[in-house]
Amino acid sequence: MTFSISSSLSDLLRTAREFIDQEVIPLEEAFLTGTPEDLAPGIAKARAKAEAMGMWAPALPEEVGGAGMSLVEFAHLSEELGRTPLGHYACNAQAPDVGNMELLLGYGSEAQKEQWLEPLVAGQIRSAFSMTEPGHAGSNPTWMSTTAVRDGDEYIINGDKWFSSSADGAAFTVVMAVTNPDAERYRRASMIIVPTENPGFKRVRNTPVMGDVGHGWSSHAEVSFNDCRVPISNRIAGEGEGFVLAQARLGPGRIHHTMRWIGICERAIELMSRHAIDRELAPGRPLATRQVVQHWIADSRAETNAARLLVLDAAHKLETVGNKAARTEISTIKFFVANTLQRVVDRAIQVHGGLGMTDYTPLAFWYRHERAGRIYDGADEVHRNVVARAEFAKYGDVDLRG
Ligand SMILES: Cc1cc2nc3c(=O)[nH]c(=O)nc-3n(C[C@H](O)[C@H](O)[C@H](O)COP(=O)(O)OP(=O)(O)OC[C@H]3O[C@@H](n4cnc5c(N)ncnc54)[C@H](O)[C@@H]3O)c2cc1C
Repeated sequence: MTFSISSSLSDLLRTAREFIDQEVIPLEEAFLTGTPEDLAPGIAKARAKAEAMGMWAPALPEEVGGAGMSLVEFAHLSEELGRTPLGHYACNAQAPDVGNMELLLGYGSEAQKEQWLEPLVAGQIRSAFSMTEPGHAGSNPTWMSTTAVRDGDEYIINGDKWFSSSADGAAFTVVMAVTNPDAERYRRASMIIVPTENPGFKRVRNTPVMGDVGHGWSSHAEVSFNDCRVPISNRIAGEGEGFVLAQARLGPGRIHHTMRWIGICERAIELMSRHAIDRELAPGRPLATRQVVQHWIADSRAETNAARLLVLDAAHKLETVGNKAARTEISTIKFFVANTLQRVVDRAIQVHGGLGMTDYTPLAFWYRHERAGRIYDGADEVHRNVVARAEFAKYGDVDLRG
């Protein structure tokens, strides 16, 4: 494929960079060291500006209020937005909302779109996605205890979930629950919309992640469903189709995450380079004179560029031949970019010395929170297995069951 971009996308990316530099990066101090109230007015202003500039909900079609970008276009934009922890939120392109928007757009009923998708795209409400359970290995998503049992024209949902990102303050969550326990394992579960104001829904607590309990959109909640009654019409698509929907949701989601990570790598390289130039070990002897620092920067540049090409290639493949055929490429980028990110941010912290451990730069925030990239949406090992399986398949038939 060719990686050239149109002049209109190039203009948009330039505009996005200016927007992030001028309107969003200045808000980082309030986000990283202040209270939600400190951040609120600035982020509201930035969101209004993003909407006026045509960068709102970029991955969604224009007819539902988005900017109508293709996956490859959004991948490029995502890199620019990823340069700050607030970039995607400023443009209403943050996980898990963007995944839920795509889910409702592709598979929601007209009534669900009107009630949930429209206000979500408009940025009036937020949402969560509740699949993982504390009692079961999330790496085997077919094994779960949460059930949704039919009672007339309602489901009664019972179960516990955790890591329901952004459930704090969300208007609804999409829960994965077993509706057909006797079906074959990929046909057992369904996705059901649960409004968080439902008396049977409880946000138990926000789970501390590496010492950070977070708040609002930037948090990960433990939630429970106790005889939680919702109408059957809250189910998304058919009964037992939860895994089909999960696969459809995860493919583009992995492009979104990995391209955001490239943006983080870019900012880390920028911060590391600037600091290496500015920080003097002795008069006239900046850190940049040390060969080890030069090598860290060079390795980070090479690895980031390689990661970007892999992600764009996967995005192009996903868009042209679909999720299933692009499976190996998607698994490759998931573990490759997550590990690139971890190395690059780690080097940037090392170059910053003690400053790197503080929240006066976004590096420590990324170090804490993006470590999870090697775990969520499929742990590294699971994705490596997929890639290895594709390689073995070229040469023979081998039973890989562990
Ligand atoms: C910050 C964060 C946000 C999240 N957000 C959400 C969310 O919004 N909604 C949601 O539903 N879930 C969310 N999750 C949960 C996430 O999807 C799970 O953590 C993930 O699926 C792994 O499941 P687990 O934690 O149960 O680990 P387990 O499945 O118990 O796996 C533990 C470890 O075992 C290893 N392992 C697993 N399988 C294999 C294998 N086949 N071969 C070799 N090694 C293996 C891996 O190293 C893995 O890390 C989030 C998690 C984090 C950390």
